[in-house]
Amino acid sequence: MQILEDRFHRKHDYLRVSLIDRCNLNCFYCNPKENKSESVRYQQNLTLYELVRLVKLFVLEFNIRKIRFTGGEPMIRKDIIPLFERLYDLKQSHGFQLALTSNGTTLAPHLERLQQLGLDRLNISLDTLDREVFEQITGHDKIYEVLQAIGTAEKLAYHPLKINAVGMRGINDHELVEIVDQFKDRDFNLRFIEFMPFGNNAWKNEKFISCRDMKSAIESRFRLDPLRPEANSVAKDFRVRDHQCTVSFISPISNHFCSSCNRLRVGSSGKLKLCLLSADDSGLNIRDLFRSGLDDKEIAGRIIAALQFKQEVHPPVKQLLTFSENQMMAIGG
Ligand code: SAM
Repeated sequence: MQILEDRFHRKHDYLRVSLIDRCNLNCFYCNPKENKSESVRYQQNLTLYELVRLVKLFVLEFNIRKIRFTGGEPMIRKDIIPLFERLYDLKQSHGFQLALTSNGTTLAPHLERLQQLGLDRLNISLDTLDREVFEQITGHDKIYEVLQAIGTAEKLAYHPLKINAVGMRGINDHELVEIVDQFKDRDFNLRFIEFMPFGNNAWKNEKFISCRDMKSAIESRFRLDPLRPEANSVAKDFRVRDHQCTVSFISPISNHFCSSCNRLRVGSSGKLKLCLLSADDSGLNIRDLFRSGLDDKEIAGRIIAALQFKQEVHPPVKQLLTFSENQMMAIGG
């Protein structure tokens, strides 16, 4: 067993895997309809067999403790249930956590089965409670499907169910208090995320709201009591006084959390990505290594070597805006 440690003594025990570089929503900040760059989208995704091998490699060679499946939209992968089925025994014997981030639109009918197969943690993305704003952001009239998935997750007692909302000035900033109000007495963790620039994703300074401002907006109605930070948490967490829900603020832009980063990412086509917000690549494609016939121990050695190129902090906004392509779909958030 090896430790995934980089030059800055950060130990990595959390892997995020993008299952697919496509999504059934077109959020303007992530997967805009006009983004037709073929070099970014529609790459060859890892096969089911390769995904299982990837998870095994990270669990057996590096003792990874948490794996999150994301995308694109992971639920539009037709073999998501078979993936969980094939990981079931490994999970039983090695006890790592399995997590999923989904837009919720097609999740509800499959959630019970996923839970039986070991899905421990669930994040559902929802930026607004307003049907029209939802359509304005995502290009689709599917808010009811998302709310249904949230209801199903609640019945299945995901503890806590995490709701991701990207705060954007002029789009949903007037709703931040309302979102807390709507869910305040439920076992939810409401996660407000700063809008991040990725190449051509319509990021504008005027649309950006810092976590500080999102927190002040919510504090105009609710008292927030700080919670003790969890190890390697990217969020600042608060309990909403006199209510059940908690809220968290994730500030990749205004106050980065690079020094405690314990995450590695593998994109849908097998690229090892050392940092979500960096143009630099590890230069390693694990799918290609699988196909070249290397065994897992050899591949593990290559991964450790690539990790040494991870930068201490991600580039500043100015530089992020110069990236020519939006790779969010392939990398996963
Ligand atoms: N399709 C899934 C979903 O919607 O949750 C998983 C992938 S999505 C890329 C993961 C998360 O990244 C979502 O919560 C989404 O809101 C967030 N995200 C995408 N683009 C973002 C951006 N530009 N700034 C901040 N968060 C972003």
